[in-house]
Amino acid sequence: MRPNKEAIEFDNSVENAVKKYLNNKQAYCMYPGCNMHAISSHTISKKISLNQISENGILFSPESKRMYPEKKYGIGEIGINDASTFKGFCKIHDEIFFSVDKNGIKSQKDVFLQVYRVLNFIIFNENVINKMAPLFYEKLNTSLKNENIKKIIERGKNTATEANEIRIKKLNKYSSNILNIINAGGLNSATFDEEAFLTLDITMDQDIQENSHNKNEDNLIIVHRKVNYHIPVAMATKVSFSLNTQGKEDELFLICIPYENYSDLIIMFAKGKSLFAKNNHYLHYIYNDLNMLELIEKTMVNSEDWWMSPREWY
Ligand SMILES: [Zn+2]
Repeated sequence: MRPNKEAIEFDNSVENAVKKYLNNKQAYCMYPGCNMHAISSHTISKKISLNQISENGILFSPESKRMYPEKKYGIGEIGINDASTFKGFCKIHDEIFFSVDKNGIKSQKDVFLQVYRVLNFIIFNENVINKMAPLFYEKLNTSLKNENIKKIIERGKNTATEANEIRIKKLNKYSSNILNIINAGGLNSATFDEEAFLTLDITMDQDIQENSHNKNEDNLIIVHRKVNYHIPVAMATKVSFSLNTQGKEDELFLICIPYENYSDLIIMFAKGKSLFAKNNHYLHYIYNDLNMLELIEKTMVNSEDWWMSPREWY
């Protein structure tokens, strides 16, 4: 039996609670070992990127903020100061992104810094969902009358909580590995060519090799491409979608940073489980402009963490 639509007609109370929580929350720095208060900062540089696509300080972004799977999908305005902003790092540790914010991605090290920042943005949001989930279920529970449906919801709640915790644990593992690589100091800080292309194979014991054939399934592949045209959407997200007809889901991290005349694109995925990795399939998406734009569009349908120029919308 499906809960009838009328029974789960949500108002915005949970969404408002999330906003209140985020505004009031005294968040702490996510840098390992730091317990300073976090400040609000952008995941995607406001100065050199978001400013380029905003119109009078406004961007367009999906409106329903990840609380209701059933909720209608809408696009709305978001102020540039709120776009991609999160309380992730203290004033001191936010400084590690100074160069990326000011100059964009210019080196291998910058790619890792940007990935590290996006991972923490995603972890922060997942943690917020975890914190707010009880409120969501309470709301659901009081609006439902049928006891059987309540039981189904309760089971779903436990599965979702478990899945969330596993997901956060994995994301934290990725994040700490990326940070260890950054701090080990071995990354190339030489400046890229304009149409740079970089594939890195990251083993979970913090070793990196370029285009290696390491078999470890947990390894991450990071691909970066700088394209010499402007993509009108900024994106910092993780999505799951099916690349084939058998319904096998691929998990993909996608970062798009537009500048005035060019754009940086970074994709990341776990090597072993992904169809992107199989036979270097990702090259098909990354090298070919049409396929790449299709991938971005596909990601926009599946994700809420993107910000688009209002100019392009109309
Ligand atoms: Zn800190």
